[in-house]
Amino acid sequence: MSAIDTLPPLREVIAQHQLTAKKQLGQNFLLDLNLTAKIARQAGDLAGSDILEIGPGPGGLTRGLLAEGARRVLAVEKDPRCLPALEEIAAAYPGRLNIIQGDALEVDPLAHLTPPVRIAANLPYNVGTELLVRWLTPPAWPPIWSSLTLMFQREVAERIIAQPGSKAYGRLAILAQWRTEARIVLNLPPEAFTPPPKVSSAVVHLDALPAPRFEADAANLSRVVAAAFNQRRKMLRAALKGLAPDIEDRLLAAGIAPTERAEQVSLEAFCALAREIAKP
Ligand code: SAM
Repeated sequence: MSAIDTLPPLREVIAQHQLTAKKQLGQNFLLDLNLTAKIARQAGDLAGSDILEIGPGPGGLTRGLLAEGARRVLAVEKDPRCLPALEEIAAAYPGRLNIIQGDALEVDPLAHLTPPVRIAANLPYNVGTELLVRWLTPPAWPPIWSSLTLMFQREVAERIIAQPGSKAYGRLAILAQWRTEARIVLNLPPEAFTPPPKVSSAVVHLDALPAPRFEADAANLSRVVAAAFNQRRKMLRAALKGLAPDIEDRLLAAGIAPTERAEQVSLEAFCALAREIAKP
């Protein structure tokens, strides 16, 4: 019998610890352990990795990660009501689960983990996007983590993997695709959660690339992409005119027609423009 079988079903855990879902904490729980095991398997080589899990809640995904063989899981949960349920899981997997009660936007336990480190989370939408951006913009690349496996509302997942020419293409796509290989690995209907949210969800897996796909300075790329997509309907010569007085020349030098709009410009071309902007 595996350790997971000695723990009570999640519905019982929730009832026993009175974990009624709080909307302000984005609590939509996954109670099907087959599903959480499936998500855990998307995170890659668990046995050889330390896992940072954000927002474990009653521990469905945590149990999946441990049952699928994670070397060690460090879980950060904001809601103190979830701690007793998580402690029960820690007792069933001695020495493999550590829990930090706190806000993942304020505590950063990544430095306490031993590489390779993988991050897995089923988080509220706003917190998830904010953390994704932070994880994608560390002071140096490659980052301490080797992969991210994150649940998002479907629309955000599509923005992460979007290609030029689509409405979803924007800053998030550029940021994610410049230095990671990102793909949607699972789609989930609202009914997969308790209580069901209003929208569909998707799990995105991002593998950190050893180096960026195209050379560019991160700050310059971010400046160019922010300006271009802030006024995405405008031609780039107008949207970017605040960046340099000779922006048309720089666009042409980067191989971009000044009349193009941000939505049409490839990641490679944005990187070329970031390099042109860096020139005196
Ligand atoms: N992982 C569990 C699951 O899949 O059933 C719970 C998922 S639920 C969508 C989101 C979890 O994140 C909740 O347990 C909530 O309390 C927690 N949470 C929300 N904001 C957080 C934050 N800023 N830092 C850490 N945890 C947070």
